[in-house]
Amino acid sequence: MSENRVAAVLLDRSLEKHLDYEIPSEMQARIQVGSRVEVFVRKALCKGTVAILKKASTFGTLRPLHRLIEEHGLSDPLWQLAHWMSRYYCCPLQRTLKCLTPPNVRREVKQKTRLTVSLAVTREEALDLCRKLQGKQSAQALVLEKLLKAERPPCLKDLEVSRSSVDTLVKKGAVRLIEIQENGLDDAEFFPSPPKILNGEQAACLTEIQKSLDAGVFQTHLLFGVTGSGKTEVYLQAIQHALSLGKSALLLVPEIALTSQTIERFRARFGLKLAILHHRKSLGERSAAWESLKSGEVKIAIGARSALFCPAKNLGLIIIDEEHDSSYKQNEEMPTYHARDVAVMRGKLEKATVLLGSATPSLDSYANALAGKYRLGVLSTRATLAAQPTMRIIDMKQALDKAGGFTHFCPELLEGIEERTAKGEQTLLLLNRRGYRRMQICSECRYIAKCPHCDLSLTYHKEPNLLRCHLCDYQAQLLRECPSCRGHSQMEFRGFGTEHVERSLRALFPHIRTLRMDRDTTRKKESHEELFKQFRAHKADVLIGTQMIAKGFHFPCVTLVGILNADAQLQIPDFRSAESLFQLIAQASGRAGRSDLKGEVILQTFLPHHPLLPLAASQNYTAFYEREMEERKQFSFPPFSRLIKIVFSGPDEKETNRIADAFRAGLIQSAPPDAEILPMLPAGHPKIKERYRFQFLIKTKAILPMADRLEQLRQKGPLPKNIHMLIDVDPTATFF
Ligand code: ADP
Ligand code: ZN
Repeated sequence: MSENRVAAVLLDRSLEKHLDYEIPSEMQARIQVGSRVEVFVRKALCKGTVAILKKASTFGTLRPLHRLIEEHGLSDPLWQLAHWMSRYYCCPLQRTLKCLTPPNVRREVKQKTRLTVSLAVTREEALDLCRKLQGKQSAQALVLEKLLKAERPPCLKDLEVSRSSVDTLVKKGAVRLIEIQENGLDDAEFFPSPPKILNGEQAACLTEIQKSLDAGVFQTHLLFGVTGSGKTEVYLQAIQHALSLGKSALLLVPEIALTSQTIERFRARFGLKLAILHHRKSLGERSAAWESLKSGEVKIAIGARSALFCPAKNLGLIIIDEEHDSSYKQNEEMPTYHARDVAVMRGKLEKATVLLGSATPSLDSYANALAGKYRLGVLSTRATLAAQPTMRIIDMKQALDKAGGFTHFCPELLEGIEERTAKGEQTLLLLNRRGYRRMQICSECRYIAKCPHCDLSLTYHKEPNLLRCHLCDYQAQLLRECPSCRGHSQMEFRGFGTEHVERSLRALFPHIRTLRMDRDTTRKKESHEELFKQFRAHKADVLIGTQMIAKGFHFPCVTLVGILNADAQLQIPDFRSAESLFQLIAQASGRAGRSDLKGEVILQTFLPHHPLLPLAASQNYTAFYEREMEERKQFSFPPFSRLIKIVFSGPDEKETNRIADAFRAGLIQSAPPDAEILPMLPAGHPKIKERYRFQFLIKTKAILPMADRLEQLRQKGPLPKNIHMLIDVDPTATFF
């Protein structure tokens, strides 16, 4: 180690190459690969990560490293993980390192400290002094008064008194100031909940997980358990076991499920020693949480996708709850990683146990389990007395005929809502489109009001009475007349969204209280948590929302779930559409009747004979799996092949298309023989924010050889500056 005199540094700011620096002798012993350092580039100081240590450099004289920020920047497994991700997801190492060194690390945000004030004398002495000070030095008397009343030493800033009076009291020896490190942990209240006695299936699954934890070898488990089967209890006891072995555990949940309701369940078991990693926390708090995990002081981390890279010390267990959830995939930015797949790789590098849980496993994971790559554990019944809900499929064509016009609700659903409301139970209504009306269209010439920046029709929002683009948030006034045929015609509306459903329901049943939850009502930071709390507190009878209301929440009083347009999902030309619909229906059914009240799901559709619906309605996952795998096999879609999607975007349509075509032609020449390069197509959204988008898919047997080819091609000829290329490996969406 000591002969290494040169460190090749990767700067945080984008530069593809390493820069060589001399290691000053006083840093020799401490610099390692993964260390965080600061160096001069010309006259500016820049931060970076040491990527390589070497004896000499091909460059002549080198500048010395300026400062060692942190010796153990990235652990060895995390460093290797970054390399693997870079290769697999065809993404420069710098960009991958961005995921592993989040802003709190890059900006060196320090852990916050706070000053608390406490009495340095007995209560009697303080009371005595307080009396003496009253009148003359009332500010000091006030401080003592507040301290005497406080249950615990308060923070200086919470005391709301003048600092100088506190300082004077310190000098007098009556109070003392103590500096306390913030640890990034919450100090909320919780009710302890002891471990439950597991049922046979739960116990069998846990035993297998414990075996791999004990053995300390890498093993992935797939926990396939219907909603309410007690997967979380298995997670809790698996974490307990990891802790008993002195190992730490990391739990990922879908972004939207990271609410106080979820966190409380873990706190109730493990107390406050949890690091919750979310965006809503300040950088200081995140830093503190990061540090406490790194030192091993805290051994449990919970967070969404990006928490996967937290530096937990001696990581023994990684749990991915709802492993099929699409929020685990980073789609829009490189590296286009899937947290589940990267978790499995991290588990391998850390020799950890990986536990994937779902009621509707992704076909890929289930196939891996059947092939013996993952160990399969099954929970087939609900853990409590709650039975699975009944499902009804309703033909909406007939419902519309009966109603003699348009309606959102079939009679069965309306009856159901009324009946539930009368009994004090609650209903969820799902429609996967927000806004009031989907578009404005001219009755004569069929002109559609579109966004000037994107290729998308504008959605009419009643609140605040505007047309809005769902891609770029552009807003415009409603059209009074058609700009194309000038006033000889009328503008009409087409299609409906959640806003309309809410209004229609209120018009039908003025006494029913509704809440709406979609991207419009949850723009503010805590608003979705707030809406959930209101609904749980029964401030409304019906919650109307987009898919977000179907995910991972527990509402004990919900006994009816209506899926208003179950077909919408199937109209998206994507090979995963059926899978997403199956998942949606399962999730929705998981919301119905979770306690001792019997639940019901009503599925409205215009395709009542679609073969998928009865399978989804009876939650027959294995039958669905077999049917879907047959189809995937026929067309050679994943898991029978691997896909890479390449998306080009640029300000000029023709130029973008031309560059994309040229890249594709180059790829066809150099691709491995088993790879199939599919045709170039405009993306599902062909224009977003003034940029035209073209894409093509690569079908291949294995990702790595193809990824290596792509990397070579990328390095050979850089693209023009204004054309952007996104490489999406294992894309979850192939159309948009
Ligand atoms: P899932 O995560 O599979 O949807 P949960 O873990 O939320 O299921 O469990 C559903 C309900 O069953 C919860 O209220 C939970 O406390 C309860 N539960 C789980 N396991 C047991 C058990 N072994 N005995 C009694 N109740 C249990
Ligand atoms: Zn737009």
